[in-house]
Order: sequence, then C-alpha cells, then structure tokens
Amino acid sequence: MSERKPMMGRHLTVGRLTEDESELIRTVRSLIGGEGSPTRAFAEGIKYHMLESFKKGYDVDKVTSGRKCLKRLKNKHCTHPCSEHAIPGADHSDLWLRDGKPALATYHIYDIGWGKLQEIVDWCRERGYEASVVAWSWYFPTSTVMVVITRQDEDPYGGRP
Ligand SMILES: [Zn+2]
Repeated sequence: MSERKPMMGRHLTVGRLTEDESELIRTVRSLIGGEGSPTRAFAEGIKYHMLESFKKGYDVDKVTSGRKCLKRLKNKHCTHPCSEHAIPGADHSDLWLRDGKPALATYHIYDIGWGKLQEIVDWCRERGYEASVVAWSWYFPTSTVMVVITRQDEDPYGGRP
C-alpha cells in the first residue's frame, strides 16, 4: 500500500488549530443562517485541492478522452449492447488513466442507501470488479461520496513500492 494514502484521511481533531484554520471556521459559522451557503463556499474552496490529492493518492493523472466503459479496466473493448458500461446508478463518472492505461473509474453520488450499495457490490462481484465508497469526493465536498471501481486484482493506489 502506498504511503500516499494517509494524506487523504487526516483526523479532524488531532493537533491545535492554526489561526488561519480558526478564522476559516469563524467565517463558515458566520454564513450559517444567512444568505450565503457555508457548504457551497467550503466545497468551492476545497474541491480543487481534493481533486489534486485524489490524483496523487491514487497515482492517476488524467481522465480518458475515450469511452468510460469499465471493460477497459480489463483491457477489453466496449461492445453494444454492453453490460459493463457503468455501475448501477452511475453519476458524474470518469475513467482515470495511470501511465496512459485505464486504472480506475470514479462516480460521485449524492445518496447511496443500502439497496443501491448492495446492487453495486453484487454487480461488481459478478463481473470481477472491486468497489470502494470514499468520503473524499471532490465533485461536491460535504454532499457527495465517491465510488471507486477497480479490477478485483488491482491495487487502487497503484501498488508501487
Ligand atoms: Zn461498455
């Protein structure tokens, strides 16, 4: 497992807040109940950083300009009709490249209940994929979760020593 992973999961309550962090908290709190949206402001402020940290943590550099079909994770081509084009309930999808090859797919979903999660897990197991639900969703931080799909035998973080 890569040492890059921990940067995406720092604990909220470890250490003392810096003056900048304290000022940000005061600003966010000042927006509560007013015309501005604290979650939207926070999301806009943090999402680019989250996207860049995701790319570094998972060792991917860009999205494909071709089809986002999951078969490409198994070095196969999309055919029509295609039963592996996307996970059930797919939303805001990307197929990410590592060294120019499809390595993982991401989806950003607002609400993922037990039924939908079970459907995704079953769908992936039947087809040889692994699914992870990650809070580090840059699409709309605080409102979406990210579903990461890889081949079952693939280390999502790239597995480099
Ligand atoms: Zn397809």
